[in-house]
Amino acid sequence: MAEFVFADRKAQSRGLEMVSSSTWEALSEAAWEARSNARLIGNVHVGAAVLTTAGDIFRGCNLEHKFRCHDVHAEVNALSSMVAGGQREARAILVAAEESKFTPCGSCLDWIMELGGSECLVAYQNLRSGPIHVFSAAELMPHYPAS
Ligand SMILES: [Zn+2]
Repeated sequence: MAEFVFADRKAQSRGLEMVSSSTWEALSEAAWEARSNARLIGNVHVGAAVLTTAGDIFRGCNLEHKFRCHDVHAEVNALSSMVAGGQREARAILVAAEESKFTPCGSCLDWIMELGGSECLVAYQNLRSGPIHVFSAAELMPHYPAS
């Protein structure tokens, strides 16, 4: 059974209402599996798994290029797989990396806002069996322009 960390009780009830703990565990498994396929120039393996509003899971890993400006982050890779798979709306995304406080970068959060909206849940886990830290996109980007 996964352990969760939420900002507060309200976030906890919303987070587990939107996504069941067994689905969070499925997202975790998919993200850590994808992480093992990372294509690195640097040394940080990252995996991500997106849950769509239809209930499907799409995964991604970081894909690094010798010209680093072409790097594809795991979150965008997972969201791209979702769109390539014919779906348009994310409900939650979980990021797996052995780094502390590894929330998505601003560019990935832009994509999460675009395809999941401000209520999309955004989680990270820095150990395969460690706690899942869950936020909403709005909590991570509180001043993002409303669409
Ligand atoms: Zn990013």
